[in-house]
Amino acid sequence: MAVTTILVVEDEAAIRDMLNFTLSSAGFEVIEAANAEQAWQMLNTSVPDCLLLDWMLPGVTGVSLAERIRNHARFAKMPIIMLTARGEENDQVQGFEAGADDYVVKPFSPKALVARVKALLRRNQSESSSEVVVQGDLTLDLASYRFTVAGEEVKLGPTEFKLMKLFMSNPNRVYSRLQLLDRVWGESVVVEDRTVDVHIRRLRKILEPVNQAEVIQTVRGAGYRFGTL
Ligand code: CA
Repeated sequence: MAVTTILVVEDEAAIRDMLNFTLSSAGFEVIEAANAEQAWQMLNTSVPDCLLLDWMLPGVTGVSLAERIRNHARFAKMPIIMLTARGEENDQVQGFEAGADDYVVKPFSPKALVARVKALLRRNQSESSSEVVVQGDLTLDLASYRFTVAGEEVKLGPTEFKLMKLFMSNPNRVYSRLQLLDRVWGESVVVEDRTVDVHIRRLRKILEPVNQAEVIQTVRGAGYRFGTL
């Protein structure tokens, strides 16, 4: 079995130590960075399997780092879990919009955190497949994790990729928010209904410059669908 590496980005040494201890005990290889700049340098030489990213960092914030990461295709498969002391709803939305895949509010139980990390990693593994899904100009290559529109690559985060996979594999089928949460986030990841709306909005924003935003359709009172009609 290959070693699963987690990069922990946290400026508070005590929390960093606690995270390192918790994750190492769970069998993960942990690497640490005390700020975003240091993390970015490490990310330039290797891509970890998962990133635990503190929101409040001195200098470049966790949210800015998440945004920077999501602009690079080589991190497309790396889930980001944001850590924050603040539980305000707007922050969560901002975190998801920046490209986070899950969100953990401090103080958190080490056991719950490990469960969240494992759930996200499992979700990514079950996606490996050699399949290619094509709908019109849109192509989703599940093996290379590439999404292209008329041959041009468009970068998607892991959650958007999973949403597109579900939508494009089931065109015109309407999914409720709960169904999407279940299929895309999985049962063990605790997120709210509105998380779905945030990611749908992100997906449309990504598709807008390539004139494909209208494929993701809102069905009033029911949910969302990938429309080919
Ligand atoms: Ca901090």
